[in-house]
Amino acid sequence: MTRTVYVNGQYMPETEATVSIFDRGFLMADGVYEVTSVLDGKLLDFDGHLARLERSLAELDMDKPDQFDDLLEIHRELVRLNDIDEGMIYLQVTRGSSGDRDFVFPDTQTTRPTLVLFTQSKPGLADSPAAKTGIKVISIEDIRWGRRDIKTVQLLYPSMGKMMAKKAGADDAWMIEDGHVTEGTSNNAYIVKGGKIITRQLSNDILHGITRAAVLRFAREAQMEVEERPFTIDEAKEADEAFITSASTFVFPVVEIDGTKLGEGTPGPVARRLREIYLDESRKSAI
Ligand code: PMP
Repeated sequence: MTRTVYVNGQYMPETEATVSIFDRGFLMADGVYEVTSVLDGKLLDFDGHLARLERSLAELDMDKPDQFDDLLEIHRELVRLNDIDEGMIYLQVTRGSSGDRDFVFPDTQTTRPTLVLFTQSKPGLADSPAAKTGIKVISIEDIRWGRRDIKTVQLLYPSMGKMMAKKAGADDAWMIEDGHVTEGTSNNAYIVKGGKIITRQLSNDILHGITRAAVLRFAREAQMEVEERPFTIDEAKEADEAFITSASTFVFPVVEIDGTKLGEGTPGPVARRLREIYLDESRKSAI
């Protein structure tokens, strides 16, 4: 099926959508993005994603796209036009194209940001087999830049990390810096020990996951203990359970780290419960 996508103010078939070869997103990865999940045709955590987009843009001194105030309506229209029941909306903003290549940022009076959105239909998103079986991760060194809190489109290393995992017969990779886990290639990382949920605190070292914020809030509301601090990969291997969160996976249990099974090697009760709560609550507040 040909999708209807959105480019700079216009809805059009994906086959007709184009961006300049001089776009700074293409030449310099000078762009940021967001991924918002759709369940029952409604958007999950939309306000959180919009707020993080605004922050990413501000941190990079990039103007908001001219259509910023219409973003909710654009998301909803793409859901409608593409008949999305379960899936994702991908949004990307770049610093645009000045019609040439130059390291210096272009004049924002004449070069406006590029805004692109498209849908990804994923029937069965909330009922993924990985949620039941759990996933296997490997550990790799974290060699990304120092502003991982900004959601930029510089995804080459995370992409390489997924390939390393695939080659090793695993599903994903957790990244390690100074002996401690930062996060997964495209998700936040958690361990559970003695009923306590442990995850790295927010800083420039990790992306401030929107799902992370929601899951930690629900965990605390359910009287679960949460500790925000770095943990080592050895500590993770000895944990009772582990899990990841992201907008497109919600909560996935981790059952194996670098070939070491956690507990029985099956999803643990904390991860299972958090997934359930997250899905229930997010469906309720979806817009
Ligand atoms: N960390 C990284 C590196 C990510 O790419 C993502 C997902 N884009 C996350 C964490 C999770 O963030 P969110 O819950 O907002 O999807």
